[in-house]
Amino acid sequence: MAKLRRTRGIVLVTRDVQETDRLALILSEKEGKIPLLVKRARRMESPYGAIFEPTNTVEFIYYVREGPYLLKEGSLLRLFPGLRGDRERLRAALEGLAMVAELLPERSPEPRALRLVQVFLRELEGGLDPGLGLLAFQLKFLSLLGQGPHLEGCVRCGSQEGLTWCPAEGLLCHGCGGRGEEVPPNIWRGMRMLLQLPLGTAGVLRLTRAEKDLVKRLLEEFRGHLRGGPSPQDDCHGAPQTIRYVPGGVAERTKARDLKSLEG
Ligand SMILES: [Zn+2]
Repeated sequence: MAKLRRTRGIVLVTRDVQETDRLALILSEKEGKIPLLVKRARRMESPYGAIFEPTNTVEFIYYVREGPYLLKEGSLLRLFPGLRGDRERLRAALEGLAMVAELLPERSPEPRALRLVQVFLRELEGGLDPGLGLLAFQLKFLSLLGQGPHLEGCVRCGSQEGLTWCPAEGLLCHGCGGRGEEVPPNIWRGMRMLLQLPLGTAGVLRLTRAEKDLVKRLLEEFRGHLRGGPSPQDDCHGAPQTIRYVPGGVAERTKARDLKSLEG
């Protein structure tokens, strides 16, 4: 007999499968990120189409089996109408959740990630600046996974002068072979503040539109590297060097990438 379990969680992303089914990735209390197949979710008479939507908090019973788990029954615990009604906030929320869906390993409880996501959604709904809030959330989430960029001066020597961006690591000074894009002090200090300040206070940071865009772009480059894009190492350094990762970083990166390739 198939085993049944009950848990609660936040719907991260969904996609339609078969003719009327939906596959949801859920960040659950008991098992961390899990794929859940919701049969007939897209039929008119099914309540599950509206319940299993990204950002919603759900409670559900499911069959444990090979491949995606199968929903038996579920209910809605909380939704964020203030997010749903505001396009910019909703977009920030969905982008943050998509990052969690992409990088978090499957089927391994991650209470700190769940807590961070809960705070993110709550603060966004409560009026957090969506642009800065999303950047802060992304930095905090990467750091929680042990995959965040190094923001305490140069990754090799700690210097706070002449810093450039190396998407594999973070900040790298000219003296240590940094050849990437220059990162002005207010930008990397701003990123460090976004990482360190409580998420709800990210809006206090004073960055111009252009500065926010730069932070966003630097983070995107960094994430591109995590996704296993073209290795930027030779662009960061004068010569290829052994890359120093934060502890656990290599294993986690490999894991996240492997899972992604499994999911197709
Ligand atoms: Zn250095």
